Amino acid sequence: MTRYRRTKTHRGIRDIKRAKRTRARTKDLDQIHEDMKTPEKFEQQAVDADLPGLGQHYCIQCSRYFTDAGALSDHYKTKLHKKRLKVLKESPYTQKEAEAAAGLFTDNGKGRVSGVDDATATGLMDT
Ligand SMILES: [Zn+2]
Repeated sequence: MTRYRRTKTHRGIRDIKRAKRTRARTKDLDQIHEDMKTPEKFEQQAVDADLPGLGQHYCIQCSRYFTDAGALSDHYKTKLHKKRLKVLKESPYTQKEAEAAAGLFTDNGKGRVSGVDDATATGLMDT
C-alpha cells in the first residue's frame, strides 16, 4: 500500500482497529443531541464504582466521565471539547432529511395547501 492509498482510504481515521472497537464505543452525535435537551439528568448521577470518579463528573457533549472536578474543568479548555461543541452546533441528520434529499416527502394532506416545500416536492416528483 503506497502512502497515497493509505491517506485516501478510511477517511483519515488513523487507528482503524480502535475506531471499530465496540468495547469503548462512545455515543453518536444524535444521541448526544438528545442528552443535551435534558442536562439536569446528568448533573446528579447515581454513584457507579465502575466509572471514573464514581461517575460524578460527566461531560455531556463528549459523553465522557472524569475523575474529579478539576479534570472536568481542564477538559472544558481542551481542543477536543471545543471541536465537539462546534460539531454539535449543527442540527443532527434525520431520516426526514434523507428522504427529502431522495425526493420523498410526507403526503398527509397538510403540505398540499401552501408553501415552497410543496412546489419543490412536486417539481421533484415530475422529473
Ligand atoms: Zn467535553
